[in-house]
Amino acid sequence: MHSTDKELVLSSTEIHDRIQELGKAIADDYQGKELVVIGVLKGAFVFMADLVRAISIPLSTDFIQVSSYGSGSSSSGEITLVTSPAQAIKEQHILLVEDIVDTGLTMRWLKQHFEKEGAASVRICSLIDKSERREHSITIDYPGFPISEGFLIGYGLDYDEKYRNLPAIYHLNLG
Ligand code: 5GP
Repeated sequence: MHSTDKELVLSSTEIHDRIQELGKAIADDYQGKELVVIGVLKGAFVFMADLVRAISIPLSTDFIQVSSYGSGSSSSGEITLVTSPAQAIKEQHILLVEDIVDTGLTMRWLKQHFEKEGAASVRICSLIDKSERREHSITIDYPGFPISEGFLIGYGLDYDEKYRNLPAIYHLNLG
């Protein structure tokens, strides 16, 4: 990959600073409650690791994996549960941590899934909100950055399983 193939969108400092704000807002809102933070694999793993360290109240962590995107850059339109969280969901306050909410299909499905499992509450924190591409109505309680277009890589986000290790977020020119 040549350096001209990708353009910086969010620097690691910008990401870090916004995560501190999100972590503070979350800690304020969940004061005195048992919080279960559930990361959506794989894309959210880097964000999740930084976010939980910015939340100062006690919490537990878990992960869920669904398949909605294939190996390319467009959604298949169908959601399948790949791995469920190990811990019980019933009567817990769930915070879903996602990398990007795009059409909203994945998050709407996940929110309904946890509500059906009997969660006391389900909120969503997404690092990136592509709200202009929304097809399924969903509220993002803690949005990181609004981004209108382009395919993003880095900071957990992949293209064909590559680039997740980049410390910042880039726009990938898919040519
Ligand atoms: P949605 O169900 O909201 O349409 O899709 C959300 C999922 O699509 C995200 O969790 C992410 O996996 C994938 N996605 C959407 N936009 C991008 C993007 O720009 N880059 C990457 N790497 N994945 C994306």
